[in-house]
Amino acid sequence: MCTQFEEFAHRISLCQAHFALSGKTKYKKKFLYYIFFLRFEVVERTLISQQKAILSRKFDLVLVDPPHGGIDGGCTSAEGIPEKGINLSIMQRLRDILLVSGFDVKVTRDSDTSIHDKCIEGIAAQKSSDMDNRLEIFNSEDNAVCISIHQNQFTDPVYSGAQMFYSDEQRGSEDLARAVQKRFATLLQPDNNREIKECGKELFLCYYSKNPTIMAECGFLSNPGEAALLDTEEYQEKTALTIFSGLCDYLAER
Ligand SMILES: [Zn+2]
Repeated sequence: MCTQFEEFAHRISLCQAHFALSGKTKYKKKFLYYIFFLRFEVVERTLISQQKAILSRKFDLVLVDPPHGGIDGGCTSAEGIPEKGINLSIMQRLRDILLVSGFDVKVTRDSDTSIHDKCIEGIAAQKSSDMDNRLEIFNSEDNAVCISIHQNQFTDPVYSGAQMFYSDEQRGSEDLARAVQKRFATLLQPDNNREIKECGKELFLCYYSKNPTIMAECGFLSNPGEAALLDTEEYQEKTALTIFSGLCDYLAER
């Protein structure tokens, strides 16, 4: 009889063979990193919820939004690192993990640009147009799950840790927020005891989205230690994997 580890190793080798056969070799590194980061029992649970999520097919795609871009840098660390590049990098990693896992994915931007209408002038109007266009992409799909990736900021640099925001306007958003928050606490930030938080109209995309949506504040750029971590590729990868694990948990339970 196989031990649990042998069973697990067998499943991993099957997955790798699948990727090799399907020509998705560029994703192999991502997958191996994913295995490396997560503990075996966590991988096992994540794979199970991931399989359930894919098999259930109660959704069409995952929409990932890295806000800000171009002239709008978002919040900035004391070292001058803008949020926009970190959001973009985490989105790209999350997108790749989702693709290699068999999900359909759509993103709102894939480069350092604001997606405002080009005819619009003035920073305030461009920001407003950018938000309108993101919402239009969010609501262009009838059956998507939407994740907006931000970094947080506060006047006191002591605060750190991820926090998920959601609106009660859509069914499912609170459950999604809770699932992702739980994974941050169990996988990436063991000291994180933050609660998920309901938002109002001030979080425009969360409130007006027609699909289950969360705003994932992954960490505080105002905290020097967390800002330094968030600026590394390794931590960005781990953050993407953490969001992925929470998303799988949510989808598996739908
Ligand atoms: Zn932001």
